[in-house]
Amino acid sequence: MRWALIGASTIARQYMIGAIRAERGNIVRVLSSSAERARDFAAEHKIPKSGADLQELLADSDVDAVYISTTNEKHLPQALAAVKAGKHVLCEKPLALTLDDATAMVRAAKEAGLVFATNHHLRCSGSHRAVRALITSGRIGRVLSLRLHHAVFLPPHLQGWRINSPDAGGGVIPDITVHDADVARFLLGEDPVSVVAQMASSGLGDGVEDSAMSVWTMPSGAMVMSHESFTHPFAGSGLEAHGTEGSIFAKDVMTQNPIGSIELVTAAGREAIGFDNHDLYRESVLRFHAAVAGDGEPAATGVDGVKSLAVALAVRDAARKGVRVDVNYGD
Ligand code: NDP
Repeated sequence: MRWALIGASTIARQYMIGAIRAERGNIVRVLSSSAERARDFAAEHKIPKSGADLQELLADSDVDAVYISTTNEKHLPQALAAVKAGKHVLCEKPLALTLDDATAMVRAAKEAGLVFATNHHLRCSGSHRAVRALITSGRIGRVLSLRLHHAVFLPPHLQGWRINSPDAGGGVIPDITVHDADVARFLLGEDPVSVVAQMASSGLGDGVEDSAMSVWTMPSGAMVMSHESFTHPFAGSGLEAHGTEGSIFAKDVMTQNPIGSIELVTAAGREAIGFDNHDLYRESVLRFHAAVAGDGEPAATGVDGVKSLAVALAVRDAARKGVRVDVNYGD
């Protein structure tokens, strides 16, 4: 697979370039809004071509797929242009700023017969898959509740648009609540119906929220509690799933790396649960490559990206209005 990177971003630098290459993808060019930055980025990562012209990149017949990791407001025009040019798309979350925009991107790719994937990495992790397997095999009985702890400290080098730009899609809700929405959907196999929420600015947010807590109702009756923040240096991350026959405690698993621990507690006692420690982003690329080759679906599809955004938008809406909000997944 021949890839072009749309966005000279931190996530591309830190994870995705390595993941694509490890899965034998060939990165042939990179796009930045600054030709100079693109050139520097290309030199740093040994990418043959660079530039600031999206149409030039998309006209390149050596490009099969694009990885979009620009700031969130750019995903829509870049994804639509890529689809129009016949390129498969792996797009970062949140797919867009509005549900209509996200839906338009995914629909365009579907109509063009192209693969469109969302880079929700957590469902690619061995830990989350192990938790899901425990749940689906009935080890905790009927699921009563899910608690998602995802309050982290945003490192200084990322304290830019995320904390001060609503226009670029900043705020912890589009940044992290979307991931948690995907986790809940992945683990429980159902879509949140309605949410109540509060949000705050607790030290970093300047014009956008840097913290949120919300409670979601699931069709089965299970309750989901979700906490996201940019301002918690020592909170750690994790999730707990509680059922009629047992509880799962997964520590440090809301991360970009294959780390953490899982413990199952039932009437029989406590049991440490092992899991595969493969690279999360490699798994995302692996499944994308397979989908393009006609083998199955990406790990997280475009529809998954639309649904995670729908939940996040409902959380923000509920927090703003101070009322329960039904999640609108669109048509
Ligand atoms: P960055 O801020 O690092 O990059 C976003 C854009 O900012 C880049 O495309 C680049 O623009 C510009 N930029 C980056 N560094 C510099 C710099 N030093 N000087 C000037 N401009 C710069 O964001 P992230 O990599 O953290 O996030 C990008 C996207 O990926 C977002 O949509 C985010 O939500 C998502 N993401 C997803 C993760 C996941 O695990 N799935 C994890 C982290 C982020 P240009 O390309 O025009 O040069």
